[in-house]
Amino acid sequence: MLTCSKCGTENPLGRVFCTKCGAKLDLGRLTKQDLDSQVKVSWLATHWKNLVWILVIILLIPVGLAFWARSQPLAGSGQKQDERYVESCLKQMMNLKPGQIMPNVQFTDAQINAFFAEGRANAWKVDMVSVGLYQGYFTVRMVTSVLGPWKVKSYEVGLKLSREITSVPMGGPRIEVRKAAIGHLPLPKPMVSLALKPILAKAVADEYWKGISRASEIKCESGRIIVTVKP
Ligand SMILES: [Zn+2]
Repeated sequence: MLTCSKCGTENPLGRVFCTKCGAKLDLGRLTKQDLDSQVKVSWLATHWKNLVWILVIILLIPVGLAFWARSQPLAGSGQKQDERYVESCLKQMMNLKPGQIMPNVQFTDAQINAFFAEGRANAWKVDMVSVGLYQGYFTVRMVTSVLGPWKVKSYEVGLKLSREITSVPMGGPRIEVRKAAIGHLPLPKPMVSLALKPILAKAVADEYWKGISRASEIKCESGRIIVTVKP
């Protein structure tokens, strides 16, 4: 601030004439304080770009986490015969006629992963579908390519997105989604559908869904799932 010697009005730095009376300001009266405040202003003026960058990086962290895909399978995958076993069980389920009884079906996660590994992942047009079966809950992970992949020399380059839902069988055919994530970013409850919907859309469009949807009870144990089907 620069005080007018004529009327005493405080004028902002950079003015030559007083804002009130128009008298020429005496720049020789600038105090050290005035100059310090000038220095502070210029620090912000020269560093605002850095501050913007820091803000952008902070805002990009969740996006980076989201795109840092979890592309590892949740459990091991079985063999071709495991794939066929799951296929034939699901076909039996979908063709079950009224009055026909079907014993409980047990699948291990390796069997289900074998079922997804080749045929289903191709049919779903995804990079990977993998399940992990645990005591009382199960997790489904689906990895899709967002960009690419392109072959660069002997490397595959691209951007992958992983979606994950952890569900708890609630008795009968009811299943509740408890946790969801995109990449390494856990989704808050109201955003669970961001991960759930794309997985469910692929599942429902699958020819084998009819079999799975006839389950009247699903129980989950470590490494295996037990499905009861009532006609
Ligand atoms: Zn003045």
